[in-house]
Amino acid sequence: MSVLPKSIRKLIEELSRLPGIGPKTASRLAFFLLKNKDLDREGLAAAIDNLKTGLVFCEQCHNLAESVLCSICSDRNRKQNLICVVEEPLDVVALEQGRRYNGTYHVLGGVLSPIDGIGPKNLKIQELLARARGTNDDIEIIIATNPSLEGEGTAMYLARQLKDFVNVKLTRIAHGLPIGGDIEYADELTIMKAMEGRREYKAN
Ligand code: ZN
Repeated sequence: MSVLPKSIRKLIEELSRLPGIGPKTASRLAFFLLKNKDLDREGLAAAIDNLKTGLVFCEQCHNLAESVLCSICSDRNRKQNLICVVEEPLDVVALEQGRRYNGTYHVLGGVLSPIDGIGPKNLKIQELLARARGTNDDIEIIIATNPSLEGEGTAMYLARQLKDFVNVKLTRIAHGLPIGGDIEYADELTIMKAMEGRREYKAN
């Protein structure tokens, strides 16, 4: 590799940090970026650079946004009294593929994981409780954390926190999802069935 100019070596090194990209793929991508004449390199570089400055988190649901409220929270056709709780912004992207969901979301920013030192304070849990507290309307909260050990643990924790809210109906998406399968990777039909088959969920 040392026969390559430093600039290319640096690019390969940075690309191989991306998930799912090994050194071989990184090299291939780097040479593609180098040789392809039609490629808008400045546009690509600017798009990456803009990630730092152009994005904020939605004040209501904590999803990625371009202004105070994300495009879903500010959509008047979306039911504000229907809140689907997910782990990460990519889960919102996946659930939106199901197309029929017309509520809003709440992005926790991860799952409870004592081993990794992630407790309730590291997630947007208080913010969810505040949303439930902030309305007198009856609301449905759909817990759509992944069917993993941490995802189930987080779902149960939320159920315990929400059990005394008389205005909250709590549901959990159905598990047509493969065991250990992430919502993020589920196809449109699976997502639609998981959402439609949701059941009432209670703390034990
Ligand atoms: Zn939002």
